[in-house]
Amino acid sequence: MPEKTLYLDNNATTQVDPDVLEAMLPWVGTQYGNPSSPTTPGRFARECVQKAREQVARLIGARDAEIIFTSCGTESINSAIRSACTLDSNKRHIVTSAVEHSATLKLCEQLARDGYEITRLPVNSTGLLDVESLRAALREDTALATLLWANNETGVLFPVEEISAACRNKKVPLHLDAVQVVGKVSVDVNETDPDFLSLSGHKLHAPKGVGALFVNRRIRFQPMLQGSQEQGRRGGTENVASIVGLGAAAELAHHSLAAEQNRIRAIRDRFESRVLESVPGSSVNGDLEHRLPNTSNLAFDGIEAEGALMMLDERGLYCSTGSACTSGSVAPSHVLTAMGLNSTRAKGSLRFSFGRFNTEADATHAAELVSITIKKLRSLQSGSGSVVFAR
Ligand code: PLP
Repeated sequence: MPEKTLYLDNNATTQVDPDVLEAMLPWVGTQYGNPSSPTTPGRFARECVQKAREQVARLIGARDAEIIFTSCGTESINSAIRSACTLDSNKRHIVTSAVEHSATLKLCEQLARDGYEITRLPVNSTGLLDVESLRAALREDTALATLLWANNETGVLFPVEEISAACRNKKVPLHLDAVQVVGKVSVDVNETDPDFLSLSGHKLHAPKGVGALFVNRRIRFQPMLQGSQEQGRRGGTENVASIVGLGAAAELAHHSLAAEQNRIRAIRDRFESRVLESVPGSSVNGDLEHRLPNTSNLAFDGIEAEGALMMLDERGLYCSTGSACTSGSVAPSHVLTAMGLNSTRAKGSLRFSFGRFNTEADATHAAELVSITIKKLRSLQSGSGSVVFAR
């Protein structure tokens, strides 16, 4: 294991913030009341869950009654889509995009098998969605439009306010997958005005296994998990420790977001410009203007990203590829493919995603490692010379 590691995979998951951990600790130790119980420990647990609800609501400009705690972003997404389908069962059409997370893609595939018609909107070569194509796709029998706010692979941001206006105009409910957005850039549901919005704890320095679904008070909701908890909207005894953690993480993000997004953008930009300068045949995938401040998805000519990922991993730099490993062969990322990248370029792309615990020095060091690694891979592939890693 290298003595210094560089974690640049914050879109995959984030480190639990020490303050979040501290808030959670009593709930994995001495505090274990059930929030549904009328006893003193139960009432205390209920108060703590309620505090967390208010903290999450504040982060996204919602009312606390509009927040339902779930087990993850995937559950939030599934609950929103299923609710829209169940409540209006005459409407059998769903609008989504070609670049959604698998939580949405897979459910839509299932709904298609169940007889739903799914419209998958295309994106352009920079990953942006054309709102005109959304307007044209919305119909009287559309049960829901379900779209990303920011793409997990490229960080590209969809024009959510225009999307929301288009949906409202056609009276089609809108679900936004904001899993990559909440905690990274400002989110205000009053401005964006979605019917549903999904978020996930582990993307904003809370633990895995907790998420939340915003359900706008104007919309009816049909629970996916039946039970009496969460006001009958999500059955199952609350994961109090993780909910408290999510509340604490939301509070931290609320206070630090404005400064943090600029700091992280500067780190990402330093990394990106150094790599682009030092590695010939490298370029950015995704729209430069409409992009999360922490994400850099880079294509490198003439390499297999899987090989680069493993070599970087050996050197202690952790990043990711968007490729999916199916039946032993590597399929190019569906996101990059939908943007029109050919298979070779898509398979030569790596995602670097920065976060709260990265520094300017990390950007410089990471850029050096990436540059050396790509050169080494290329020289190995052309069968010439060797490159020595510098630390
Ligand atoms: N949506 C997006 C855009 C994501 O990036 C992820 C996770 O990577 C999810 C949904 C799923 O969230 P979770 O891992 O909490 O189920």
